[in-house]
Amino acid sequence: MDAPDRPDTPGRGGAEPADDLDSIDVVGQHILVVEDDDGIALPLVRTLTREGYVVERIAEGEAAVGWVLSEAPALVVLDLGLPDMDGLDVCRRVRDEGFEGGIIILTARDGELDRVVGLDVGADDYIAKPFALAELLARLRALLRRSAAAASRAAAPQASASVTGLSVDTDARRAFAGEREIPLSTKEFDLLANLDRQRGSVVTRERVMDEVWDENWFGSTKTLDVTIARLRQKLEESGADVRITTIRGIGFRLDDGAADA
Ligand code: CA
Repeated sequence: MDAPDRPDTPGRGGAEPADDLDSIDVVGQHILVVEDDDGIALPLVRTLTREGYVVERIAEGEAAVGWVLSEAPALVVLDLGLPDMDGLDVCRRVRDEGFEGGIIILTARDGELDRVVGLDVGADDYIAKPFALAELLARLRALLRRSAAAASRAAAPQASASVTGLSVDTDARRAFAGEREIPLSTKEFDLLANLDRQRGSVVTRERVMDEVWDENWFGSTKTLDVTIARLRQKLEESGADVRITTIRGIGFRLDDGAADA
């Protein structure tokens, strides 16, 4: 590990690795500002709007609770000293009712901040007044990105379990229902790839015979019907969200949506 001829480079120790969270787009998300003081609310709303967020401002706690529960914003910036109720109760109530968006609490003093953090009412972050808009923006962006990342992580396993869309990889000659491979014979794969290339459109029997079985077929396309039947069964067994529709006397069409759907 000794590198005597290489001087220390203290400046590089602080280099941050590229943060994946930076790539998550949070612009356009809905933010509710709950603050009765126009002197704080108006510049905040203006700045957030300019940053590309869709912003609503409400000055009273009761109205804020109703709005949060009906609109489910991505994030709430919540003042504690509201005219009709304590912001902490706003926080508790929306959490009790299942609100899962971010909540950043604005507190008047650092002393109050300590007390509030200790109460653990379900807020994600706290910032003491007076605050720099830039700092609030940075915290808010970080929170939105964390939420978005958590949401996509939570959605991912569920999606892979339920998504059974058919994908056909012609380079690897493999077909998948969601992430599960469908075991296919050479002809079954060729037939499926042929239909998949024109998914939603009819492929004629003649054309399939030409492209999948090459030349030298004479009239009888029984082998095609047998292969179609086997392929249908395998697709069904795989749970793939597609079906092969027979267009009598003409050909076949691969459609989205399982056969029994
Ligand atoms: Ca206030």
